[in-house]
Amino acid sequence: SDRRLLEIRIMAYGDRQLLLIARDITRIRQLEGMRKEFVANVSHELKTPLTVLQGYLEMMQSMAEPDSMNVKPLALMQQQTRRMQSMVEQLLILSRIEDAADINLEHTVNMTQLMEVLKEEAKALAQDRYELSFYCEPGLDSHGNELQLRSACSNLISNAIRYTEPGGKITVQWRSMATGAIFSVTDTGEGIAPQHIGRLTERFYRVDSARSRQTGGSGLGLAIVKHALNHHHSELKISSEVGKGSTFSFVIPLHLIERKK
Ligand code: ADP
Repeated sequence: SDRRLLEIRIMAYGDRQLLLIARDITRIRQLEGMRKEFVANVSHELKTPLTVLQGYLEMMQSMAEPDSMNVKPLALMQQQTRRMQSMVEQLLILSRIEDAADINLEHTVNMTQLMEVLKEEAKALAQDRYELSFYCEPGLDSHGNELQLRSACSNLISNAIRYTEPGGKITVQWRSMATGAIFSVTDTGEGIAPQHIGRLTERFYRVDSARSRQTGGSGLGLAIVKHALNHHHSELKISSEVGKGSTFSFVIPLHLIERKK
């Protein structure tokens, strides 16, 4: 249709003048929509060929003679295919989360259960190479979308592990505070220089892309976290010191928190 979308800003100058700026953002929104749809379609289409590749690679690997010169290239190909699969998966999650503008916040997410799941996942990732510490305040639940909250928390935990040298400590907490409830992940990892912090939630932004590539990331994790938190009226806070470690946290506001007696 020819409905236009306007963005209007009103600014006050002193106490007698107002400045009103109207901008037609119809085209920008259309382009944004096209970009999202394109990304969603492409990632969806990539899933099947990748699954086929992965399947044949597995088969070839199981048939290869243990001392043949194919063993190493096959393992590498399989590793890279797996990476591509996880990137496609992340792209799909991101486009779904970007799309879901009004999610149902009526549903109660059992945070004690969620924290248990996250703990098991963290243990599997950490494989005894890290000191893990989990604290979950009992009976403290959040309203919202379980998949999105889980995705947000789990991205923060896997980042903490990936950007911390083995032997480090990862602390995960869910507890109440005056303004709601806070979820936080603290690591004793490499830390992040201040000039990068503001940009980490941008799609594909990485402090050190060569290193992140080695650690197996896609550069989409924190973008997913940002959108998931937006839907829960919350935002990501990052505090970090290079060489000491980082804390990633978010506060779910009081009106979405439920306390069981
Ligand atoms: P990636 O897949 O590259 O990890 P993310 O969006 O999850 O993508 O994170 C973006 C970047 O933020 C990472 O590449 C890394 O440079 C930085 N980062 C994220 N979490 C941490 C952390 N716990 N410690 C240090 N750097 C981090």
